Amino acid sequence: MDCLFCKIISGDVPCEKVYEDENYFAFNDINPQAPFHILVIPKKHIDKISKMNKNDNELVGGLFLAASKICRDKSLSDYRLVINNGAGAGQTVFHIHLHIMGGRDMSWPPG
Ligand code: AMP
Ligand code: ZN
Repeated sequence: MDCLFCKIISGDVPCEKVYEDENYFAFNDINPQAPFHILVIPKKHIDKISKMNKNDNELVGGLFLAASKICRDKSLSDYRLVINNGAGAGQTVFHIHLHIMGGRDMSWPPG
């Protein structure tokens, strides 16, 4: 499958790896929007949140646990987690990813 993030998991495309376990992989975003900008992805390829099925429930939930562990390990207490679903929402890579952004003050609502 021609997927950038699958290639990052397999090592075919280089990245700055932050975390890996049996089911998840995390790396620094190439175009960071905050001092910490990490992408957490499931190793299983799922295009987007709206394509997940019931069986993916635990896997997608685990993304948040992995993110919380990564932030704890980095002593990051305040951070924003974002998942863009679909091009109109800003999704550009169609392999589910959770953005972790932190290390600066953030306003709400986002732009
Ligand atoms: P989204 O727009 O939600 O699909 O997020 C995709 C993210 O992937 C963007 O923030 C990009 O900066 C990031 N990105 C694209 N290519 C790479 C890459 N080769 N390594 C790391 N991050 C990437
Ligand atoms: Zn993929």
